[in-house]
Amino acid sequence: NAVIGIVGGGQLGRMSAMAAAKLGFRTHILTKDPNSPAAQVSHGVTLGAYDDLKALDAFARGVDVVTFEFENISADAMDCLSQYCPVRPSGHILRISQDRLAEKTFFTENGIPLAPWHAVTDRASLHAAAETLGLPFILKTTRNGYDGKGQSRIHHPADLETAFNTLAPHPLVAEGMVDFACELSVMVVRGIDGTVRCFDPGMNRHRDGILDLTLAPAPVEPAISAQAQALAVSIAEKLDLVGILGVEMFLDHTGALLVNEIAPRPHNSGHWTMDACPVDQFDMHIRAVTGMPLPPAIRHSDAVMKNLIGPDDMALWPQIIGTPGLLPHLYGKEEARPGRKMGHVNCIFPFGSLPGELGIQDALGPLATKSTPEEVTETSAE
Ligand code: ATP
Ligand code: MG
Ligand code: MG
Repeated sequence: NAVIGIVGGGQLGRMSAMAAAKLGFRTHILTKDPNSPAAQVSHGVTLGAYDDLKALDAFARGVDVVTFEFENISADAMDCLSQYCPVRPSGHILRISQDRLAEKTFFTENGIPLAPWHAVTDRASLHAAAETLGLPFILKTTRNGYDGKGQSRIHHPADLETAFNTLAPHPLVAEGMVDFACELSVMVVRGIDGTVRCFDPGMNRHRDGILDLTLAPAPVEPAISAQAQALAVSIAEKLDLVGILGVEMFLDHTGALLVNEIAPRPHNSGHWTMDACPVDQFDMHIRAVTGMPLPPAIRHSDAVMKNLIGPDDMALWPQIIGTPGLLPHLYGKEEARPGRKMGHVNCIFPFGSLPGELGIQDALGPLATKSTPEEVTETSAE
């Protein structure tokens, strides 16, 4: 049976490896950490950095197809791997998604709606961005950002200098602040033969810049859901995607959708599919990258996904595991550092009966959040 090579040892690789095993595949992980979440559940591991040519060679020789679970890897390394076997999704898609400037240029050239933006390379272009976008706006590093890191919000002219000093000399992009009604995300998967499947959109809520909850289906008008799916499908087709892709969007107060960013891999906001769909995002991804048929992305239940973050959520583990109705997924990480994603729980409701806020908090039991979701921290540059 074929061996799937997964670049990256995190939880997305772990859950992909578990899905692969169900379908009879073996998985081989490229990671620096022999005890990483994915390595724990895989058949083989090559230890090494993602740009270590010797490690890449050893890894590629043992696998039939390569995929990745992490985007901050060298697209050149992926191109190099493609000389040994297919890389799905391709290095070309990785190159677009790992650089906000390339990503926004791709959206703009392909008529995908997005917030106004302006490339920032120096103080002059920063002031030009402020002029064009108006205040407030968000300054982001073009690369390596996640969980809201590498971003700064600019409300007053005085914030410009501070933000620039914090984030430069990295290449930056300025984005108009979207006064969104909510955030949606769509998981779309495309096969080698061009078959496209799309899960129902979820609605995402963040705390401290980190995804906290996903509600599925997103409680929005059916027409909005359909538009969100159509956007995701059109992005997948324009990228000539093979594999799965997460598309994050804002729904603004006029009912317009603006795409925020894309991730060509399984996505945290798609974890609800693990318990609410017969074929989940990881199954779909493995099927796509191995050239298997893609069944329809059916959802049999409504769901709420809640992330388990750092020591605070893990301190509740004895209560979580004792609460009927909370379906836990842990990632096998030993150290519960603040802000670290340790696992998630899904809470499943009969199809069509996603409750309102009180019902959700009630179902979450020990994980109920007393306060309303917080705003993203003002400056979370790292
Ligand atoms: P992820 O962990 O999803 O990869 P990230 O670090 O790449 O996150 P973004 O998704 O760009 O960062 O931004 C994080 C969050 O900050 C968004 O989910 C949204 O809540 C808020 N945000 C980002 N850009 C904007 C914007 N232009 N207007 C309003 N809010 C924004
Ligand atoms: Mg991101
Ligand atoms: Mg994001």
